[in-house]
Amino acid sequence: MTPALQQEIQVTGKLFIGGEFRAAVSEKTFEVTNPARESHLMAVSEGAAADIDLAVKAAQKAFSEGPWPKMSAAERGRLLWKIGDLLLENADELARIETLNNGKPIFESRQIDLPAAAACFHYYAGWTTKIHGETIPVPGNFLNYTLREPLGVCGAIIPWNFPLLMAAWKLAPALATGNTVVLKPAEQTPLTALKLAEILRQAGLPAGVVNIVPGFGPTAGAALVQHPGVAKIAFTGSTEVGKQIMREASGTLKKLSLELGGKSPNIVFADADLDAAVRGAITGIFYGKGEVCMAGSRLLIEQSAHDAFMEKLVERASKMAIGDPLHPKTRIGALVSAAQMNKVLGYIDAGNREGARLVTGGERALVDGKGYFVKPAIFDGVANSMKIAREEIFGPVLATIEFRDLHDAIEQANQTMYGLAAAVWTRDIKKAHRAARALQAGTVWINNYNMLDAASPFGGYKMSGFGRELGQHALDLYTQVKSVWVDLSE
Ligand code: NAP
Ligand code: MG
Repeated sequence: MTPALQQEIQVTGKLFIGGEFRAAVSEKTFEVTNPARESHLMAVSEGAAADIDLAVKAAQKAFSEGPWPKMSAAERGRLLWKIGDLLLENADELARIETLNNGKPIFESRQIDLPAAAACFHYYAGWTTKIHGETIPVPGNFLNYTLREPLGVCGAIIPWNFPLLMAAWKLAPALATGNTVVLKPAEQTPLTALKLAEILRQAGLPAGVVNIVPGFGPTAGAALVQHPGVAKIAFTGSTEVGKQIMREASGTLKKLSLELGGKSPNIVFADADLDAAVRGAITGIFYGKGEVCMAGSRLLIEQSAHDAFMEKLVERASKMAIGDPLHPKTRIGALVSAAQMNKVLGYIDAGNREGARLVTGGERALVDGKGYFVKPAIFDGVANSMKIAREEIFGPVLATIEFRDLHDAIEQANQTMYGLAAAVWTRDIKKAHRAARALQAGTVWINNYNMLDAASPFGGYKMSGFGRELGQHALDLYTQVKSVWVDLSE
């Protein structure tokens, strides 16, 4: 085996509860794999309802007793900053673990995910000292003011596509606002979250403030959603599970924020810088192997530019480097699991059967004889009514749809139950801003794709969910407001 394929990793494969690593109450474990090698990486303790209960109790205790509730906002800020620093100090190792476990290219995990996760903690470190209530000029002899308070124990349930980054998106704002957290990572990718547990401890986060319980959705996840001691659930994942969580959370009327799927339109007008738009279309769908909620999976292209654009696009897509995810030049890694690969290949069959034209890719590829790789696939001649244009595939599959004019583009773009993101490519500034207003999506990119920043809100319209993560907006997801009335009469 070449050095690049070596798999040794140093992670404590145990639950992190009350500041300690421990086995599951059931003593069960589950296998975590490397999808690029189809090989076993390590066994991890399998948390279930009893462990979630312990974790919630630890989080409740940490919320009301001990150092956390007494800590000043400035101290909390320094702690978050330190976590960000430690993520950067350990970035090589964390990126390597992420890549081994998820299959994403090391270029992505090291250059994008890790810096973005650290930036999220650094960003929210700055907010801790800037969260405050207000005084309100009420009539009569009263003083009225508000307190902005944390919710208590927050449950975070995250997917496998950006395991560490999604943990950061949930933890940083929850901690900045003084909450405590129980995090359930995705069953496929619990490793960087457990490594993060070590970092939290090293940074000096008090025991129980963050608890991490790997396990399965229907057991550990559902127990967290139903637990009466949990005030809020922050979920990122599929729309189907999002709906289920909403139903289950109603039993205890938990607060919810849901970041769900997408089928985002990437709209290219004939007057765009076509070379930039080709690069944007490639990044839009093939970044992260297409396992990205905001993937530009529907390419809407103006009829008059179609042929020239497709020629450049197909050429570029067919040259993308599929390879060992640990190799720095690899741009297409392995899909996260055999199940995900089969799901993606099933959609490619569906596209063929529905009469779309597969112009490149779409077959399974192997690297050194192994791995759940799929060659970047582009379908031409797709109609919005086809399954491959309607459903979230979550893989490297692009559906190309033609349009006549701005009106037609917007109509087709919005013809979806989702509304996570959209992009438009044009040199016409009016057209760009008119499109940005008309698109039903939580994020619109003009002449770029996939840009995100910890300071800028992210979230969905329509069935892509609700609540805005990141930026100042996320503070609302993790706080509640209390109105205090003081009688000042003599
Ligand atoms: P998923 O089932 O929605 O998983 C997301 C998270 O929810 C995981 O931690 C999962 O646990 C947990 N979960 C599942 N059922 C639950 C329940 N009843 N109660 C509480 N938590 C529960 O997504 P997936 O199975 O990983 O992927 C399926 C499809 O979802 C993908 O093909 C893709 O289309 C979509 N997806 C979207 C996003 C996004 O960012 N929008 C992310 C991932 C996947 P387990 O890991 O044990 O299932
Ligand atoms: Mg699942």
